[in-house]
Amino acid sequence: MPGPVLIAVDDDSGALEAVEAELCSRYARDYTVVCERSAEVALATLEVLAADGTEVALALAGERVSGMAGGELLGKVHQLHPHAKRGLLIGWGGWGEHATGEAIFDAMAHGRIDYYVLRPSTAPDEVFHQAVSSFLLEWSTSRKIAPHTIHVVGESWSGRAYELRDVLGRCAIPHAFCLADSDKGRELLAGLDGGSRLPLIVMPDGTVLADPTDAEIAKAAGARVNPDQSDFDVVIVGCGPAGLSAAVYGASEGLSTLVVDEGGIGGQATSSALIRNYLGFPRGVSGGRLAEQAYEQAWVHGANFALMQRVTSLERRDGRVQVTLSEFGPVSARAVILATGAAYRRIGVPELEELNGAGVFYGGPASEAHGLTGLEVYVVGGANSAGQAALHLARFARNVTLVVRGQSLGAGMSHYLIRQIEATANIHVRVATDVVGGGDNGDGWLRYLVLRKSGGEDETVRAEGVFLMIGARPRTDWLPPEIARDSRGFVLTGADLGADAGWPLERSPYPLETSMPGAFAAGDLRHGAVKRVASAVGDGSIAIQLVHRLAAEERLHPPPDLSAVSQPGSGSSSSR
Ligand SMILES: Cc1cc2nc3c(=O)[nH]c(=O)nc-3n(C[C@H](O)[C@H](O)[C@H](O)COP(=O)(O)OP(=O)(O)OC[C@H]3O[C@@H](n4cnc5c(N)ncnc54)[C@H](O)[C@@H]3O)c2cc1C
Repeated sequence: MPGPVLIAVDDDSGALEAVEAELCSRYARDYTVVCERSAEVALATLEVLAADGTEVALALAGERVSGMAGGELLGKVHQLHPHAKRGLLIGWGGWGEHATGEAIFDAMAHGRIDYYVLRPSTAPDEVFHQAVSSFLLEWSTSRKIAPHTIHVVGESWSGRAYELRDVLGRCAIPHAFCLADSDKGRELLAGLDGGSRLPLIVMPDGTVLADPTDAEIAKAAGARVNPDQSDFDVVIVGCGPAGLSAAVYGASEGLSTLVVDEGGIGGQATSSALIRNYLGFPRGVSGGRLAEQAYEQAWVHGANFALMQRVTSLERRDGRVQVTLSEFGPVSARAVILATGAAYRRIGVPELEELNGAGVFYGGPASEAHGLTGLEVYVVGGANSAGQAALHLARFARNVTLVVRGQSLGAGMSHYLIRQIEATANIHVRVATDVVGGGDNGDGWLRYLVLRKSGGEDETVRAEGVFLMIGARPRTDWLPPEIARDSRGFVLTGADLGADAGWPLERSPYPLETSMPGAFAAGDLRHGAVKRVASAVGDGSIAIQLVHRLAAEERLHPPPDLSAVSQPGSGSSSSR
């Protein structure tokens, strides 16, 4: 067959003909369109396609086909073609019918369908095509064949090749990795200068970067590394959801805005394969895609970015706040918004730390899942992010085992995720268990883990991938002592600042303001933060409103020079 398959199955022949006409009219150049009226014939066709290695990009099924529920049929499609996107075809207004609604909720909760699709009405039906093309974009991105994909070629999976993948992931840049001695690697290397150092990156326009620095990657991908001025209304430290939201609101409301990040864009969110609870994305959205769109939105409003630069210090000087960027140097602003989020706790098993990037991964599996197709994979952690990771990996891996230290999943995970996990045949759960060891077979890639059941013996299990999602600590070590924090290092703000926090002004601190006037905290690094994308985004927007309030207040009452004020807890700071 000439291209990946789009298959539609429906026993309503009129409806199927309309779907076939629409699919053929738009997609026949690049895809093979197959339409069937019977579930049995469709499944037999899909078996043949799976056996000869033909990709199925999209499967659409009516609500009932040959007496079988469409959701059930699409569940079987998933077993044969785990990468295929699956949509349940419904008629206009069908969502109002109880049975249809239940069929959709049930099939989605059990991972049998990705979403529903309205049957085409009169041609051309752009609503139908929008649904189909969104599915095809998601499919091609997950298969790493979307346009503008960057290729990384390395000698091994670990070391600098892994770091480069990590940087690309943190910049939300679609990328694929291959070993130099694989077919794809040889194809990419053919025709290049034999002296090119590995690992290397092949950009979508054909540019080759041999063992580039992180900043070179960011620049080549069109990101800004240095600001063009050193004075702003507001500097935002961190380009995760909180920082990006503050950038969109700050820039769109006329503030000169700089966002600095030691990595790329999107923060932790880029490690989430599918965020399903963010407002306005009923089908879910990958963290990378959300970050890309937010970055673009901030950029079109005029926000400035300095990526791959760490902020190393923060101080208040002459009524302004000053931060130092690792490469560029000092930048000053009326206000700074700290949005540096949190980082993963390490597992502390030396053999596993050595295999970081070679089967051992911290965070979610967004960019690694594909490489683990058909393998044994473990996810360690009991929070929602671990549950989502397991569900995502189950589409690729042969088996996914969720290892949880607690006695049950219920303690840390949302009920809807637990239901989905229970309904996914290739996900297994081990409670009251710790990972205490692991290693390779001398080939540089994780091959086994050692698990310890509480009070029990060690068990060695086959494992080709492990995702460690065992909690996070705030990225606040770099902050000066003037910024008061709780015992775990999360930044205290507003009413949480106690009398000993060292607040130096007559006025009370604003809600997200830290113990340093003019320095606000937004997102996961803040004490009491909910640790969700939506709450980080909310914090970012609120912080900008507070910057406006601060500006109005300072116009009325210019701030005193606080450079002589002592640090919290020293007993000599001004009281509120
Ligand atoms: C795998 C996974 C799945 C998730 N799934 C969901 C979900 O489905 N729904 C949901 O609502 N939430 C989800 N979350 C949580 C969500 O991603 C976080 O709550 C959110 O990203 C927090 O945003 P933030 O901007 O506060 O911080 P972060 O996203 O952590 O961003 C902080 C940024 O600051 C930068 N930085 C740190 N220190 C410095 C420094 N000194 N100088 C410069 N830059 C610095 C970092 O590089 C980073 O880019 C998930 C998280 C993970 C890890």
